[in-house]
Amino acid sequence: MAEEYDVCVIGTGAGGGVMIDQLTAAGFRVVALERGGRVGPLDFDDDELKNVIRDQVFSPHQLETYRFDAESDSITGRFSHLAHCVGGTMTHWAAWSWRFRPDDFEVLSKEGPLAGANLADWPISYDELEPFYTKAEQDFGVAGDHTMNPFGAPQKTPLPNPRHPERVSAKKFAAGAKKLGYHPFPVPKAINSRPYGGRPRCMYGGACRAYGCPIHAKATTLSVSLPRAERTKKLDLRIEAMVYELPVDDRGRVTGARYLDAKGNAHEVRARHTIVSAGAIGTPQLLLLSKSNRFPDGLANGSGQVGRNLTFHHHPSVVGVFDEDLRTYAGFESHAAFDDLHASDPKRGFIRGGVVGELNTFTHQPIAYSVVLAGDHRFGSSWGAGLKDRIRAFPRTLTLALIGEEMPMEENGVDLDPEVEDRFGLAVPRVTKRHHENDLAMYEWYEKKLMEVAEAAGAKHVAPGRNPEVHISKTQAQKGNAHNHGTARMGNDPSRSVLDRWCRSHEVPNLWVVDGSFMPTTGGYNPTLTILANAYRVADHFIREAKKGSI
Ligand SMILES: Cc1cc2nc3c(=O)[nH]c(=O)nc-3n(C[C@H](O)[C@H](O)[C@H](O)COP(=O)(O)OP(=O)(O)OC[C@H]3O[C@@H](n4cnc5c(N)ncnc54)[C@H](O)[C@@H]3O)c2cc1C
Ligand code: SF4
Repeated sequence: MAEEYDVCVIGTGAGGGVMIDQLTAAGFRVVALERGGRVGPLDFDDDELKNVIRDQVFSPHQLETYRFDAESDSITGRFSHLAHCVGGTMTHWAAWSWRFRPDDFEVLSKEGPLAGANLADWPISYDELEPFYTKAEQDFGVAGDHTMNPFGAPQKTPLPNPRHPERVSAKKFAAGAKKLGYHPFPVPKAINSRPYGGRPRCMYGGACRAYGCPIHAKATTLSVSLPRAERTKKLDLRIEAMVYELPVDDRGRVTGARYLDAKGNAHEVRARHTIVSAGAIGTPQLLLLSKSNRFPDGLANGSGQVGRNLTFHHHPSVVGVFDEDLRTYAGFESHAAFDDLHASDPKRGFIRGGVVGELNTFTHQPIAYSVVLAGDHRFGSSWGAGLKDRIRAFPRTLTLALIGEEMPMEENGVDLDPEVEDRFGLAVPRVTKRHHENDLAMYEWYEKKLMEVAEAAGAKHVAPGRNPEVHISKTQAQKGNAHNHGTARMGNDPSRSVLDRWCRSHEVPNLWVVDGSFMPTTGGYNPTLTILANAYRVADHFIREAKKGSI
C-alpha cells in the first residue's frame, strides 16, 4: 500500500505555503500538491504583454465562468486575478501588508444586521490573532512604521524593517492628503528595505505588481516558506498536480487526495490530515467536485455554505495629471496611504470603509495605462491625438484608490459550471457576483473624496478612473479581483459556516481549509497578511493538538 503522509496540503500559496513550512519544521511528513508549475527568478522579467496583459507566466491554464446573478447568462474567460504556480498568487502580489483592526472581527455586533447582506462576526478576536500577525511580519520582513498611522490596529511589536524611501508621487499624494487634514504614512510592505532573511533589498524597478521579483526582495511563500520547508527533507512537493477529488472512507474521514498530472494521468496520495489551501476560488471548486454518497452536495457542505459569500474589495479610483514629472513608473505599487476615512460613519449613508492609497497599478505599465484606461473617455481617448496626449502624460499621472470593504451576500459565490469544462474535463468554477447597495454608496462617496485629494495635491486634470475593470453600479460588477475571500467561512454555528474557529471542517474531522476562503468579512485592507497570520495560528494549534494526540 502507498505511503501514508502525516499531512496532504493542496496549494502552495499564502495559506498553504505557511502550513507546509510550519508543519515540516515541526517534523510532520507533508505531501504538497500544486496544480501549477515551478516559476523562479529566471522567468521573472518585465515584459508587460507576457506577464500582465496575456498572463502567460503565472496561470496559463486558468478558466472560469462569470455571471451577474442567478438569472444572468454566464460568460467564459479568466476573470479572477490569480497565480497557479508554486507559491500561488503571492508570487506576483504587490505586498501591501496590513493588520485588520479589532472592529473588523465583529462587524455584525458593531453594525447590526444589514438587509441583503450576510454579515457575521469572526469566531476569533484581534487579540487572538495579534501574536501571529507579529510572526507573519517578522517572517515576511514587513517594512514600514506602524506609529505613523493613528487609525491602524494596536501593535505590540514594531515592524522588523524600516520604511522605504518616499517616491516623488508619494510626496505629492501626501502633500494633498495633509492639506485636507489627513495623516498620510508609508504603506507597510513585505518588501525588503534592507537585506533581511537572506534576501536582498528592493531595487525599485517598477515592474512589481503582477510581476515576480527577480531578486526575491519581495517576500512570498516561494521566497520565504517553501525553500525552508524543502531544506527539512520532510516535504514531497508534487507540481502540475491538479487535485480533482478528496475521497472519504466509510467513517466520513478524508483519506488524502486524487490528482491528475500534466498528461492527465490519475494518481492518489494518502494522508492522515488534508489541508485545502487552493484559494477562495479553487477551494470551493474542489470541495464541490468531491461528491460522495455521504456528502452528495460536496465535501463538508452540509450547511450549503461552501462557495457562498464570495467577497472582493471594490476600488473607486481617481486619475490626476500633473505638470511636473512624477516618475510613477518607478518603484513598487503604492508607497503612501491614509486611513482617516476608514471607520464607519452612519452620516455617510453606508457602513464600513477602507484605506486610501496612492498607487501606480496602471501608471507603471504603459500598455495597461493606454489600453485599459483608454476605455474611459473622461480621460483622453483610445485613439488618435487624444491617445497620444494620454501617453505623453504617462510619467505625470498619479492614481489614487480605495481598498473598499464589500458586504458579503449569500448569493454571491463560486459553484461548478454545469456546461464549461477545463482541459481535463473538470467543471470549471462559476463565479456569481453583484454588489450590495452599501458597496455602491461607498464607491460614490469615496470617489468624490479621492477627487478632492488629487486636486489638493495640485493635479491639473482630475478624472474618476471608471474603466470597466473596476467600476461598479446597479447593473455592473467587477467580474474578478485580486482579493478573494469568504467561500468557506469560519464560524461557531455549523449550520451557517463551513469551518470552526480553527479552520477545521465542522463535519469532517481531518479536513482543514487554510487560505483566503475562511474570512467571514473582509475589512478595508488588502487581505494577505491576515491570511498568513491565520495560517500561523492554525499551524500552531494543529502542532500542539497533534502532539497531545487529540486530533
Ligand atoms: C496582482 C496581484 C497583486 C496583489 N497584491 C496584494 C497586496 O499587495 N496585498 C495583499 O494583501 N494581497 C495582494 N494580492 C492578493 C494575494 O495574492 C492573495 O490574497 C493571496 O495570495 C491568497 O492566498 P490563498 O492562500 O488564499 O490563495 P493562493 O495564493 O491563490 O493559493 C492557492 C494555490 O492553490 C493552487 N490550487 C488551486 N486549485 C488547485 C487544485 N485543484 N489542485 C492543486 N492546486 C490547486 C493554486 O495553483 C495556488 O498555488 C494580490 C493579488 C494579485 C493577483
Ligand atoms: S520593485 Fe523591488 S520588490 Fe518589486 S520586483 Fe523590483 S526589486 Fe522586487
